[in-house]
Amino acid sequence: MKETIVIKIGTGVLTRENGTLDGASLVRLVTAVAELKARGHSCVMVSSGAVGAGVSALSLGAYPDDVETRQAAAAIGQARLMQRYQTLFEQFDLDVAQLLLTGSDLKDHRERVSATMNRLLLEGNIVPIVNENDSVAIEELRVGDNDMLSARVAELLGAKTLILLTTVDGLLDQNDALIERVHDLDELGGVIRSESGKFSIGGMASKLEAVRCATEWGIEVLIANGRNPEQLLDLIEGKGKATRFKV
Ligand code: GLU
Repeated sequence: MKETIVIKIGTGVLTRENGTLDGASLVRLVTAVAELKARGHSCVMVSSGAVGAGVSALSLGAYPDDVETRQAAAAIGQARLMQRYQTLFEQFDLDVAQLLLTGSDLKDHRERVSATMNRLLLEGNIVPIVNENDSVAIEELRVGDNDMLSARVAELLGAKTLILLTTVDGLLDQNDALIERVHDLDELGGVIRSESGKFSIGGMASKLEAVRCATEWGIEVLIANGRNPEQLLDLIEGKGKATRFKV
């Protein structure tokens, strides 16, 4: 088995602006991850989209601000999301495993979480799918955003590569040109443009915070476009369009 790759997928990649899951995007993503599995890579997904996918069920026009509604939306959306993943991965004879974590699980129950994940990864046909346990996590115990959650999961598993899939090609400079390689985060200064969308949760700032932690932990991070998942294999082989943060 090759080394484990952690792939984080943002809400903007998985949902449409009306708060429903984007089926076509999910099909392409799952097909690309299945291809990685077929090549012997061990993959863990950190998938957002639970709150986003619950929005339409609650007839909300936008991402909810209040905690109760957000947690209720997550409870509905998480089930919808996993149901889709399961159905799609089944086409490739793969199964999914759901892990909903809070910050305290990663802090106080590290061994437990890692033992479960590693047990799942022993089975070649399982794709673990992680999310924050949004419907119960209270503020003090939250990881906060899935960029940081994915960095912490990658660290826990000893992964060497973390791919953050978002709705842009990577970090863009003020002229919209892709920054392909970053060796020192502190040199970026004000040159980057911010990504934003109705259902974009963290934006680039939260990604860069996660990148800082992950690279300090020795994990190479890539930010790439989740609307172009076909390039996942290329990305792992050092090709493709992305911003790479070297360790
Ligand atoms: N856990 C949230 C969700 O599934 C998303 C949080 C994030 O993307 O940072 O909707």
